[in-house]
Amino acid sequence: MSSWPDVAVAGGSIGGLTTAILLRDLGCEVDVYERSAAPLADRGAGIVVLPVTERLLELHGRNDDVMSLTWWKYVDASGEVLSADPDNFRFTSWTTIYQGLLGIFGDDHYHLGSELVDITPEPGSVEAALSGDRKVSADLLVCADGIQSTARNLLLPEVSPNYAGYVAWRGVTSEAVLSEEARRDLADSLIYQILDHSHILVYAIPGPNGSTSVGERSINFVWYRNYPEGESFDDIMTDVDGVRRPTTMPPGSIRQEHMERMRDTASRALAPTLAEVVLKADTTLIQAIFDLESDRMVFDRACLLGDAAFAVRPHVAAGQAKACADGWALADALQRAGGDVVAALGLWEQPQLELGRAVVGRSRDMGERVQIRGELIAGDPTWKFGLYGPHD
Ligand SMILES: Cc1cc2nc3c(=O)[nH]c(=O)nc-3n(C[C@H](O)[C@H](O)[C@H](O)COP(=O)(O)OP(=O)(O)OC[C@H]3O[C@@H](n4cnc5c(N)ncnc54)[C@H](O)[C@@H]3O)c2cc1C
Repeated sequence: MSSWPDVAVAGGSIGGLTTAILLRDLGCEVDVYERSAAPLADRGAGIVVLPVTERLLELHGRNDDVMSLTWWKYVDASGEVLSADPDNFRFTSWTTIYQGLLGIFGDDHYHLGSELVDITPEPGSVEAALSGDRKVSADLLVCADGIQSTARNLLLPEVSPNYAGYVAWRGVTSEAVLSEEARRDLADSLIYQILDHSHILVYAIPGPNGSTSVGERSINFVWYRNYPEGESFDDIMTDVDGVRRPTTMPPGSIRQEHMERMRDTASRALAPTLAEVVLKADTTLIQAIFDLESDRMVFDRACLLGDAAFAVRPHVAAGQAKACADGWALADALQRAGGDVVAALGLWEQPQLELGRAVVGRSRDMGERVQIRGELIAGDPTWKFGLYGPHD
């Protein structure tokens, strides 16, 4: 009989799948329970790939559809380059990461349409109640169920996400439809423009067929705009059917008047290349920006991981990396504890709490600096992506 525990993972996205693969590789029996009834769809957005996110895909030879850019530039409203630093960050689409991980884990133990609804500690085990009156028992329950985590609501009801006062308008444009000038500007550069209490960044990601050739890629934009809490925020998050969405407005759900206002500002305030990317986007969505900090991650034999425990503002591009780092650390702790779940969680919790607090704090400071205080200056060397610090 194996000494490795049986593990149930609630949430089958980046954090849940990474952890499931690593624990299975150790020798655990792992089942993933994902609320969504269908495989997760593209969030319509590009992703900055930090090393810890790519590590598992690289080990399995599945990181072909990840690409690099050579320059990190800032431009002004006329398009003039204010600063240009050589850089080597890597980029892809959310789907590439998800499909890569799902391909490694396989379908057999990936249960769609399985929503975690309750958690009951048992002597020597933990019971997870799932939708459809199902119950599963495991030695360890990993809750990777995202920023709106059901598990966190059950285990830490006093902790909830805090709205940051602004949202990210995000979208993807086909490079093929851009003008020669825009294609040239974006060929090998990530481009920022700082606006009044706002900023936008634009960069290439592999195209829908995975191509990284110039002309066949997609161009991703992320434009941070302030909507104060209350009426203004409620209005932007109310969709075409009058439904108030909590965190994200998926493509097609944003009301026409907001799309028009956003486009009008884009044509007036953005550098020509950046405006062109925004105005020609095939998909546009809104991600509201939140901070979330938990003061515990371990509850007997259950733990909170990834966005369920800490949600990081996107300025550091480390939300996925944080979820993956939690998974790698859990596998490492379980190995060091020889498969003893309680001992492993004891080893795991404190360093992950410290990492979560540090990265949430750094991303909050960056967001406040640019969106609230309006203090970001083009070329600032500290304004870089990273989980542990700029460039780290
Ligand atoms: C539009 C967008 C762009 C982003 N860009 C970046 C980026 O460039 N770089 C970066 O590092 N991060 C980025 N992030 C953040 C990143 O996607 C998250 O930080 C990361 O996905 C966290 O992974 P997770 O597995 O913890 O949570 P999530 O990815 O949120 O996954 C949670 C999963 O749990 C499922 N679930 C929810 N409730 C239950 C339940 N009760 N039972 C079972 N399953 C449940 C959900 O369906 C979902 O699949 C972006 C996020 C968004 C929305």
